[in-house]
Amino acid sequence: MDLQPRQVLQTVEPQPVIEGAGVKLKRSIATSRLNYVDPFLLFDHFGSDNPDDYLAGFPMHPHRGIETVTYMLAGAVQHRDSIGNSGIIEAGDVQWMTAGGGIMHEEMPQPRQGQMGGFQLWVNLPAKFKMTRPRYQEIPLAQIPEIKREDGVAIRVIAGTVDDVRGPVTEIVADPTYLDVSIPANASFVHSIEKGHAAIAYVFEGQGTFGITPEGGGETVPHPKLVVFEDGDYIEVRTAGQAVRFLLISGKPLYEPIARYGPFVMNTRAEIEQALRDLQNGTFVKQG
Ligand code: MN
Repeated sequence: MDLQPRQVLQTVEPQPVIEGAGVKLKRSIATSRLNYVDPFLLFDHFGSDNPDDYLAGFPMHPHRGIETVTYMLAGAVQHRDSIGNSGIIEAGDVQWMTAGGGIMHEEMPQPRQGQMGGFQLWVNLPAKFKMTRPRYQEIPLAQIPEIKREDGVAIRVIAGTVDDVRGPVTEIVADPTYLDVSIPANASFVHSIEKGHAAIAYVFEGQGTFGITPEGGGETVPHPKLVVFEDGDYIEVRTAGQAVRFLLISGKPLYEPIARYGPFVMNTRAEIEQALRDLQNGTFVKQG
């Protein structure tokens, strides 16, 4: 049977939002245009040459029912939390945090040589894992394999498998792929994605044509923009005169009801109310 190319379902212009204690960022998922792409609940691109846009940071705040994935391109984020973790996420590092039943944490961006930028993705947890113990996977740049192909395509494999190279983030319920893909001018990239999984790309440098089909289909997407793919077996991206760099993210949809309120994402309104009561009563935080 022929393999089916995934075409572009929609492209989304990131919306400017102010989050935390006054951080300016670009949001592509969790907006009026795109609420979520099951199992992905939020996607933020942050970064600025002006420290006033981010130094106020994200002081102590709770999360429940989700995982947050932070990937830094430049600068750093200093973090600490209610289960005794603290550290600094530097450029190229990834933090995959499973908030589970309850965590309080602080995330404070800092410049390095005047630069700061990165991404945060929220991945939903299924009902049976929403109250799981909080857990961290902190992966420094040095532990993230980078594939460099002869045609100049470079792929950092954070989660998932490319050319038999497996990324270091494992044991995540959504069975995610998370790749940072750079394609030079006049080149192409093909990647298999399991049928039925959701797939998105976030274009953050240059431009490329996404959703190439054997019949000549495809949509040219300049940065910054989010691409949501239709179902299928693989995606193909091609460049012409310009290089492109994007994140390619996929995961298994949950098909569960979503009740969201700020940093909590549960299945029902009653569970959101319980989270708020737990915060008031001082019983919110769960041990890791
Ligand atoms: Mn947070």
